[in-house]
Amino acid sequence: MRHVKLLIIGSGPTGYTAAIYGARAMLQPVLVQGIQPGGQLTITTDVENWPGDKNVQGPELMQRMEDHARDTGVEILFDHVREVKLTSRPFEIHLDSDDVITCDALILATGAQARWLGLASEETFKGHGVSACATCDGFFYREKDVVVIGGGNTAVEEALFLTNFAKTVRLIHRRDELRAEKVLQERLFNHNKISVLWNHIVTQINGQENPKLVTAIEVQDTLDGTCSTINCDGVFVAIGHTPASELVIDQVETRLGGYVVTQPGSTQTSVAGVFAAGDLVDSVYRQAVTSAGMGCMAALDAEKYLAESLRH
Ligand code: FAD
Ligand code: NAP
Repeated sequence: MRHVKLLIIGSGPTGYTAAIYGARAMLQPVLVQGIQPGGQLTITTDVENWPGDKNVQGPELMQRMEDHARDTGVEILFDHVREVKLTSRPFEIHLDSDDVITCDALILATGAQARWLGLASEETFKGHGVSACATCDGFFYREKDVVVIGGGNTAVEEALFLTNFAKTVRLIHRRDELRAEKVLQERLFNHNKISVLWNHIVTQINGQENPKLVTAIEVQDTLDGTCSTINCDGVFVAIGHTPASELVIDQVETRLGGYVVTQPGSTQTSVAGVFAAGDLVDSVYRQAVTSAGMGCMAALDAEKYLAESLRH
């Protein structure tokens, strides 16, 4: 058992940014990386919207953030948090290694994971024609034919965004109505590059090796069971994101199936001294740069909280 002032859970852009700011505020933060050191960007290739880098590989960018955090004096633990106890003070953090750390302030930066269809072929072509992020990868599909899977706001926004690059965009939805906002639906239906395939599910993604790329998908009609093939170059899966809030789901206020609620304009959660930032709280923007921005906010909020606690 050891005690620290500030503990940060998560090593994506949110966690590392919070750690750098925390270290520079002399809070001697400890950061627990989790089973995906570097977070979601380590599973992508080209990142072309990180300001200051026209093109950087996701894993390289995250390694640089880690190096920056270490150089600033952050203690980084390659471990995974099994349990947090927020009812007692200081907060108790239980790690897989069986170590227990107590802390005065806690920053939750555990991110979110895109939901996937669960097909083996989807796994094969991830990063090579299969993506869950049009903002990140749309640029690579200039004058190509792409499909978007899903019927929510994300799918419709991704489809609209992809029209900036793609020759054609086909939205494939498992039902005959979208759950996306009406205004977005209207934009979708009125766009001459977009068509919608109703009542279909994707059963297989086809492609080739060397170079690895997608050539088509197989779909099944949910009403009559018939199967067909659609030629395409890119598959964008937009069936929702799952925030990684299982550690705190019963301990802090959440919304929309697990996004941690923070006070407006702040990273303060429903438990004083516990801050949350990045994809864990954000169901809308979900970008590296917005996550990093919120990580900075969380460290500043934690610094203020710790200073005020000391005064009382
Ligand atoms: P994450 O990056 O999800 O990091 C979460 C961290 O929490 C991980 O390190 C994980 O190990 C840790 N963690 C989780 N649970 C625990 C636990 N119990 N104990 C300890 N640690 C834990 N955004 C862009 O701006 N540009 C892009 O080009 C871009 N491309 C993308 C490509 C792909 C394929 C994906 C999936 C996303 C992409 N994004 C991109 C989105 C971007 O990656 C996310 O917005 C960003 O990573 C969110 O950062 P985060 O730190 O909040 O969470
Ligand atoms: P979502 O609203 O949960 O929608 C997910 C969609 O994917 C649904 O249409 C669902 O179909 C479909 N789906 C789920 N699992 C599937 C599967 N296995 N196979 C095929 N289709 C599947 O998710 P989201 O669109 O990512 O939005 C998440 C939240 O963020 C929402 O509250 C949304 O309003 C919000 N958001 C807001 C904005 C905005 O305000 N501009 C933008 C993006 C997101 P069914 O409809 O049949 O269930």
